[in-house]
Amino acid sequence: MQAACEVSQNSTLRALSDSALAVGFGQSAAMTQLTRPRWPQGLCTFCNVNSASDGICVACRRDLPALTNCCSRCAEPLSVNTQGGLICAACQANPPPWKNCRAALPYTWPVDVALQRLKYARQLSYAAAFGALMAQITPREFADVDALCAVPLHRWRHLRRGFNQAEELCRIVHRRTGLPLLKTVRRVRNTVPQSGLGRSARQANLRGAFRIVGRCEFSHPLLIDDIMTTGETCRQLAQLLLAHGASDVSVLTVARASARDYAAGTAKV
Ligand SMILES: [Zn+2]
Ligand SMILES: [Zn+2]
Repeated sequence: MQAACEVSQNSTLRALSDSALAVGFGQSAAMTQLTRPRWPQGLCTFCNVNSASDGICVACRRDLPALTNCCSRCAEPLSVNTQGGLICAACQANPPPWKNCRAALPYTWPVDVALQRLKYARQLSYAAAFGALMAQITPREFADVDALCAVPLHRWRHLRRGFNQAEELCRIVHRRTGLPLLKTVRRVRNTVPQSGLGRSARQANLRGAFRIVGRCEFSHPLLIDDIMTTGETCRQLAQLLLAHGASDVSVLTVARASARDYAAGTAKV
């Protein structure tokens, strides 16, 4: 099932990338070469042309979309100016259990294609580039966190995929910030993929999916993941950590997809 899903994802990716190349999307020539399969060491993983010590060159970093206006609690992209700090209607109605949540980028092209290539085509060079962006954000936005915790995969999915993209990102942030890793959280149920499920189905799918071995030995862990959509995975994990000794939990993801678009059926997550 998973293999079939991944084949389908790769086909989708190829189609996405081909159409992106065909129309150019108004991006630089460097960005439109996202589809190049190889990543020689020291070159930008997006354009494979310019040199880049962090996996992404200055031109491609400049071309990446920015998440400028978003909810200050859940990072949901909003269509109004949020510089004064706005909380979205969903967070006001149902406040999330975490203290702080940020995403490095919005889940739009080419971030969506890059993350799918990371996850389904094993292009781990994207983890290095995105992890470096997350490491830059961490001390600025999460000065009081004392550990990093990657959102775990179930061991069977980990075996099938060969890696956990959240762990790959977390490792980069760990190396660059020196923050210790919280490694005692497990995914004990092999849940079906969250993509395509509605909010209540996502909640039911994740119920009891995570366990922690013993108490959480850190007071303020930072959850690390690739994408946040409805936030249900991080909500479940934050509640688990808070119930087992953490005082606060914060969340950092590479990308934020719009939960509102997802609920309306117009998001592609
Ligand atoms: Zn580049
Ligand atoms: Zn919100």
